[in-house]
Amino acid sequence: MIKRSFLGLVKPKLQYNLVPDSLQELSVPSKVTLLLKEPQNGGGTTTLKVGDPVKTGQRISGSPESAEYVIASVTGTVSGMAPYVDGFGQKYTAITIEASAQDDWDDEFNKEPSLDTALKFFEYAPGNPSFKPFADPEKTVRNIVINGMDQDLLLTANQYVVQNEAADIKSGVEALKKMTAADRILITVPENLVQQATTTGAEVKTVSATYPNSLPHMIMKDLLGRVVLVGDSLEDAGVVFMSAEAVAALGAAFKTGQLRVTKVVTVVGKDGSATNVRVRLGTPLRDVLQACNISVNDRDRLILGGPMRGVATYSDELPVEPCTDGIVVQDEANSAQVTDYPCINCGECVRTCPVKIPVNMLVRFLEARLYEEAAAMYDLNCCIECGLCSYVCISRIPIFQYIKLAKYELSLIETAEAANE
Ligand code: SF4
Ligand code: SF4
Repeated sequence: MIKRSFLGLVKPKLQYNLVPDSLQELSVPSKVTLLLKEPQNGGGTTTLKVGDPVKTGQRISGSPESAEYVIASVTGTVSGMAPYVDGFGQKYTAITIEASAQDDWDDEFNKEPSLDTALKFFEYAPGNPSFKPFADPEKTVRNIVINGMDQDLLLTANQYVVQNEAADIKSGVEALKKMTAADRILITVPENLVQQATTTGAEVKTVSATYPNSLPHMIMKDLLGRVVLVGDSLEDAGVVFMSAEAVAALGAAFKTGQLRVTKVVTVVGKDGSATNVRVRLGTPLRDVLQACNISVNDRDRLILGGPMRGVATYSDELPVEPCTDGIVVQDEANSAQVTDYPCINCGECVRTCPVKIPVNMLVRFLEARLYEEAAAMYDLNCCIECGLCSYVCISRIPIFQYIKLAKYELSLIETAEAANE
């Protein structure tokens, strides 16, 4: 296998949006839908049933031992339980809760910061922070990077949190010190947010405004001077990344005794104008778009995430999830259409790739579904998922989508092989 370092990177020229947009607080929706992941080892989904009452902040899991759970973002009554399968085949139970106007808070959350509390209550926090690496005896994680910059163009949700909730981030940093064995906690921000970042108690590092410099692998190389080897995760390299919003949610929960059940989302309309909204987790996208006066017509494109790394979705009934930093709507006329034109070997994708992957060769193997060969011969696993190759492709080949699918298919192959060993 080719082991590529990140040395000799070229710098693409797309710039992040650095000025956080103003925030609109949306009222409690009439219903929310929470997607509870099915346990990998099978077993029951949840003991909850239609008609059961639910309190705000209540932990809902398949079984007491299950690592998969969601946190109820409203008080109300369960009105629906349905199977849901996402675009990559991951199975969930979609739990719909009819919400009351008033919150009745569940009191199971323990205010004492400990790793057990983090594992039990915060993996469904906004930003989906992961605490499992700290509990894994095979990993030694000593560094936490709080990403105070958004990871896609146009989005400013995390930057909004750094600008306006630095005190909560500070409390979150103190909680992280108690809960983990990390001896170095950094926060990465653009130049214009350094002042707020210095009040958080974390070591401040500045990220340049050029895309994709806020992606974790780029931060590892540029700011920590480390290269993640092919096949290794960031945690294998001793570093856990968390979003600024996740750490602020942690801090706010330990200060107030109430889990944070909202998410800041940047909503980008068809004219390119952006606004930040704070919504309850599980709010249907349709409610968010209505509140922002954005209509979605047939053949418009609805993207979860940002324009470079986001995933187009088919339904505005889908809910805002803890990882939903952005919702982008493009009208049909302005959407870049993908094609089945062949690669003309222009080399643009290779020139723009920050990891210098031979994308023109890789795409041939991905189109032929030769995923293991793509990984072994053309550096599939070196890809940091920036989406620049798709952006520049003259033939409009959906390279980024091919890469995501290939990585997912490879993960299934590896899981099946591990199960057979
Ligand atoms: S998404 Fe494309 S440009 Fe970005 S790292 Fe992967 S192959 Fe390279
Ligand atoms: S940019 Fe598109 S057409 Fe050009 S070499 Fe890459 S895959 Fe082929």
